[in-house]
Amino acid sequence: MTHPGLTDRFGRVHRDLRISLTDRCSLRCTYCMPAEGVPWLQRDTMLSTDEIVRVARVAVEMGITEIRLTGGEPLLRADVVDVVDRLAHLEGPLGRPEVSLTTNALRLPALADALHDAGLARVNISLDTLRRDRFHALTRRDKLTETLAGIAAADAAGLAPVKINAVAMRGVNDDEVVDLTQFCVDRGYQMRFIEQMPLDAGHTWDRHQMVTGEEILAQLRRRWRLTERGDRGAAPAQVWDIDDGPSSVGVIASVTAPFCGTCDRVRLTADGQLRACLFARQESDIRALVRGDADDEAIAAAVAACLQLKRPGHDIDDPGFLQPDRPMSAIGG
Ligand code: SAM
Ligand code: SF4
Repeated sequence: MTHPGLTDRFGRVHRDLRISLTDRCSLRCTYCMPAEGVPWLQRDTMLSTDEIVRVARVAVEMGITEIRLTGGEPLLRADVVDVVDRLAHLEGPLGRPEVSLTTNALRLPALADALHDAGLARVNISLDTLRRDRFHALTRRDKLTETLAGIAAADAAGLAPVKINAVAMRGVNDDEVVDLTQFCVDRGYQMRFIEQMPLDAGHTWDRHQMVTGEEILAQLRRRWRLTERGDRGAAPAQVWDIDDGPSSVGVIASVTAPFCGTCDRVRLTADGQLRACLFARQESDIRALVRGDADDEAIAAAVAACLQLKRPGHDIDDPGFLQPDRPMSAIGG
């Protein structure tokens, strides 16, 4: 039975735990991290693997059914295969959790098979452009070839369906909406476009500059016939079939069409802070509990208390909106 503490004040039942394995990254995407001077988390504040598995075990025993590993770049964690193995074998009232991962793919040629064998179900891979010069400018690293090799490795390892995420940015990559989608259609991957959110380290996000989901759809409709799929449940992406399928494309319109009303996600940062929302202003210090003498019930109570603080929406469009202090790389996307 699901623990009542997973249900918040608005009746949302939480099933999805996103765990950031590190705030370190091998890229420096402009919408996420600064070029230099990143205030890294102190090593001794970061949860050990035993600590992560313990918190996840409590959450799964409460009724969490999906675990998404993220970061920073989760594949930079040296024992990521072991982490996946241990998380995929947890047992809760609703069975074993499905473990997936969001990654920039750079380490997938080396790790994809081992991750699959350890129990990883699938991957979401960030790819904002197919052009080498743009990739270099956008991520501040000349790594397009390696990223494409990582995507192919995920596919070959059976980490399916491979989902490709792109943040659409005006004057940067918004002319590649069709090309990126075609890249996915040709290979059987699923393309997802994400509206840029105010989570960059430089706090330069501008509501009037961002590319909207509607603009993305308008471009796609000039090339394909799109048919909207029905009930998306708690999924952030609204999905359209391309020319009656089987290919599809999704748009995550977090800003212009928020899906907070069905949100079932809760986040654990690499330094052990629980956040009920990407944009939460408050965090619950789970690290202090696991390093103190708290029992599992106390950890479950802290998870429940954190979710009770969850607000109905992120209020990005509210004039009083405040961007979180931490950038996306330190929260865990
Ligand atoms: N390093 C991995 C990656 O890039 O996939 C995982 C972490 S990254 C923070 C997770 C996701 O957040 C990526 O798909 C990335 O594109 C997205 N992201 C980062 N900053 C964002 C922003 N300001 N707005 C929207 N999405 C963002
Ligand atoms: Fe790294 Fe992912 Fe952030 Fe890019 S989006 S800097 S790959 S954490």
